Amino acid sequence: MTSIKDYVAVTGEDVIDRLHQLARPLRGMKVVHVNSTYVGGGVAEILSKLVPLQKDLGLDVRWEVIRGEERFFQVTKSFHNGLQGIPVPLGETLLKGYEETGAQNAEELRSILEEADIVIIHDPQPLPLLRSCPNRKGKWIWRCHIDLSHPYRPVWKYLRNFVQEYDASIFSLADFAQPLPHTQYLMQPSIDPLSEKNMDLTQEEVHAAKLQFGLDPDRPIMLQVSRFDRFKDPLGVVKAYRLVKSFAPSLQLILAGGGATDDPEGEAVLTEVRNEAGTDKDIHVLLLPPDAHVTINALQRGADVVVQKSLKEGFGLTVTEALWKGKPVIGGDAGGIRLQVVNHQTGFLVKTPEGAALRARYILRHPDIALEMGLRAKELVRQNFLLTRNLREYLSIMLTSLYGDQERIELQMESAP
Ligand code: UDP
Repeated sequence: MTSIKDYVAVTGEDVIDRLHQLARPLRGMKVVHVNSTYVGGGVAEILSKLVPLQKDLGLDVRWEVIRGEERFFQVTKSFHNGLQGIPVPLGETLLKGYEETGAQNAEELRSILEEADIVIIHDPQPLPLLRSCPNRKGKWIWRCHIDLSHPYRPVWKYLRNFVQEYDASIFSLADFAQPLPHTQYLMQPSIDPLSEKNMDLTQEEVHAAKLQFGLDPDRPIMLQVSRFDRFKDPLGVVKAYRLVKSFAPSLQLILAGGGATDDPEGEAVLTEVRNEAGTDKDIHVLLLPPDAHVTINALQRGADVVVQKSLKEGFGLTVTEALWKGKPVIGGDAGGIRLQVVNHQTGFLVKTPEGAALRARYILRHPDIALEMGLRAKELVRQNFLLTRNLREYLSIMLTSLYGDQERIELQMESAP
């Protein structure tokens, strides 16, 4: 288990001292994060790293996961799709089921939630919990990780009723902010440089991962890591690969992903991907277990071309992860990818499979330029998208939420009396 002091090696002492300073007035505060899965997807990835460090800084933090039946997750997945712009049906019964599951979860969590000083609700699944906690004493914040740039209005109109009762919300991009009657914070997600997913690996480990999945380590590899979700456009990636393959016949493609317990559409999309891949032995569709962090790390390090061709993207941690490994990323021109892929500097923004193919060919033909872009990519992440920055912003938001109406907030140094 990493502790906050381990990060001194990555960020320097000042950054960590400042975190202690910010955390001091929050020590012992009861903070509860709530989402809908412990594994799979970016939210679980972040919380699994953020929560232990918030504890290490002295906050009394819990991470709770709501439970629901398959139908509940079908509804919430359709909310997810709707919020990212797809017209989806909104039947009375479905909405009733969503609200009832919220109320049932609140039965179990009520005392913890009502006692908390800060409750952070992640994404739409647990939104209704607030309504079932009438005696809440703390501040409730909605942290939205979804690309809300052009929501399907009926879905947002419905969910907005819940959101507006919160004390504040947090979005990843200014583009996602919405007219709401409370403070909206902007905060980007982050990666943990010391986690198994991002730590340094040896060449041997990278080589071994390629052999493990039947790849030829001497031939180029194009990679996309993501849940099997249509917004990640896996079929577009296969199309791009085929276009590149006609110029670089030795190219291999890996589509690596796993399921998330709150994503019921994964299997159907996986089948579509497998059908599209057909009998091409150079397409490797890998269904990985949720703890395959080192494997993903190795594949990202071993890839010659990393793609994240999303059509909508809240942020795209897979992009951050690859950039951190010195890989320029060919990313869909959407949502949070735009913050990370600085066109021609840390990668290329693309709109179509043809665009992705063109850029992939360029990267394969110019490994020296790819290396330079990769250096810039890593620096971009070091300066902007590491967990320590995210931690600092969470602490600041908590301080503002709890003490924002006071004239001054005293931030004492550790050594102060
Ligand atoms: N991930 C994983 N296993 C998989 C697919 C994805 O561990 O099979 C991780 C991936 O490395 C990243 C996160 O899940 O850390 C996905 O976050 P992202 O923001 O890219 O997308 P989301 O799934 O949240 O839409």
